[in-house]
Amino acid sequence: MAQKTMKFKTELDQLLHLITHSLYSHREVFLRELISNACDAIDKVRFEGLTNTELLDGESDWKITINADKEARTLTISDNGIGMSQEAVIENLGTIAHSGTKAFLAKAKAMGAQNNPELIGQFGVGFYASFMVADEVTVITRAHGGEAVKWTSKGTGSFTLSDADRATRGTDVVLHLKDDAAEYLDAWELRSVVKKFSDFVEHPIILLTTEKDEEKGTEVPKEEQLNTRKAIWLRPKGEISDEEYSEFYKHISHDFKDPAETIHYNAEGAIEFKALLFLPAAKPFDMVWNNDPKAHLNLYVQRVFISNDFDNLLPGYLRFVKGVVDSSDLPLNVSREILQENPQLDKIRKNLVGRILKTLAQMKEQDSKKFSKFHDEFGSILKEGLQSDWENREKIADLLLFETTARPAGEKTGLGDYVENMGDREEILYLAGESRAAIEHSPFLEAYAADGREVLLMTDPIDEFVIPQLMEYKGKKLKAVNKGGIEEDQEALAESTKAFAELLGHAKELLPGVKEVKLTGRLKESAAVLVGDEYSMSPHIEAMMRRMGQEVPERESVLELNPEHPVVQKLQALYAANKQDPKVATYAKLLHDQAVIASGAKLEDPAGFAARLNEVLAG
Ligand code: ADP
Repeated sequence: MAQKTMKFKTELDQLLHLITHSLYSHREVFLRELISNACDAIDKVRFEGLTNTELLDGESDWKITINADKEARTLTISDNGIGMSQEAVIENLGTIAHSGTKAFLAKAKAMGAQNNPELIGQFGVGFYASFMVADEVTVITRAHGGEAVKWTSKGTGSFTLSDADRATRGTDVVLHLKDDAAEYLDAWELRSVVKKFSDFVEHPIILLTTEKDEEKGTEVPKEEQLNTRKAIWLRPKGEISDEEYSEFYKHISHDFKDPAETIHYNAEGAIEFKALLFLPAAKPFDMVWNNDPKAHLNLYVQRVFISNDFDNLLPGYLRFVKGVVDSSDLPLNVSREILQENPQLDKIRKNLVGRILKTLAQMKEQDSKKFSKFHDEFGSILKEGLQSDWENREKIADLLLFETTARPAGEKTGLGDYVENMGDREEILYLAGESRAAIEHSPFLEAYAADGREVLLMTDPIDEFVIPQLMEYKGKKLKAVNKGGIEEDQEALAESTKAFAELLGHAKELLPGVKEVKLTGRLKESAAVLVGDEYSMSPHIEAMMRRMGQEVPERESVLELNPEHPVVQKLQALYAANKQDPKVATYAKLLHDQAVIASGAKLEDPAGFAARLNEVLAG
């Protein structure tokens, strides 16, 4: 191949700039990232080699080597893992797989990412962290059965590809260190960084140094293993420090922050496995932008890494959990597809889910501040479980927090507390909408406010979809206050309905989109509301779906009027005096307009509304 130069995707260029400038004080993490990649590459070939031994090229002596060349000022990290073909190099090192890179950059800029390493860290910088210490990076790599390829870049917009020599399968990452990064050529510095970040890495990390041969008086090469290689999840809990857990978490998650919670246990009995799980402190960016609905735990069988791609190891609504599961009950020497079907995996999943939900319940009880932070980050993902995990529905519901009409903005309560405070009332009341501000003065709340009843205010877009699935909690029905009827004083209403009957029929004729016009006792201050039926979508969800280009069926709502309200009474008087009075239509339409606005929906004809309003204002 002739040498060719290719440009990075523009976003990548910007990202590189951001990474190298904002993570500077944490720059030793480049080594952790490169060792993680080398380790992944070995795991990949080792696993695929279980079913396709040819791939191994007769190799079983897995290792990662670090070679510091002081004269050339290069630091080389090599592995005998899976290697990359030319296409794979372009795909993996020339673009960023995350589709949301652009959006991420915009957000990162808005949040002042330059001074916020955690933010960049959440994104997972991986290989590109090399450019914090190197002004040029060369990757020489070779996949099974292919030719070696050389990739070189200064991390400023382009990279070059050319042919290369490499005797065997694997990858060398050669860093041409910057002037101010010479410390990474020192054996003691490398020892300390590896010890700190990568001690538990399963494969030996070998530092190539030299020592003096006393007899010959010359320097001879020496191999020194830097890591103890103890799989952290196999060690007894009591022996593991918080720092060790934290470094391991960062190794598998590429997060920069410490985890919020660590769960480490051995399952014994019907199914045996060891699990080390972490709850992150904040939502990683790839979770925001990629929106991959699957959970990815690392599955090991007898310490051999199998995959992080089984979707039956943990349900999607727990996809924020990171960690390792190591089972000795699963067969090692079968393909991923067959393993995916193994019934033992279901048992493991049940156990993991139970454990995670229990840990969250404990966190909620023991440290409400910490739990509330967790809920802010991952609550909307957790809620998906109401829909998908029927069995654990109530346990998931126990963990949810909502604002309510009885508490100041920002303060949340759980369903358990709500039920405790509701006395012998039968229904858990809620109103869903776009934001607290948009719904807290809703006409639907008036009757309940007058009665002193608390209503949950649900403002997470997913609430509207999943909360109705819950149907009841602790034997109490959930009821959306903007849907369906309410218990009313039927007798009192029957009286007025008689008096208003003709007007109500006429108003329905004037308002074609309305299924019925009737009187209500649910309003105290307002004149009118639009009520959907039990199963209809709320207007704000309809609006959201329209914005996303979805078709939304025409909704048929009931317009309810407050017979005590002076405007409704005036309409009745106008109608009684002269059925042909054009003001009757204006008033009826304006009552409908205001009910549409208060429901959170958009007016179909805003100009018509303005004209009607002006007509009335001008008197
Ligand atoms: P990540 O590791 O988070 O996927 P990186 O930017 O670190 O992101 O690496 C991008 C991709 O490049 C990896 O997913 C992997 O496919 C490939 N890669 C990186 N280092 C190696 C290596 N030493 N051997 C084989 N493939 C590698």
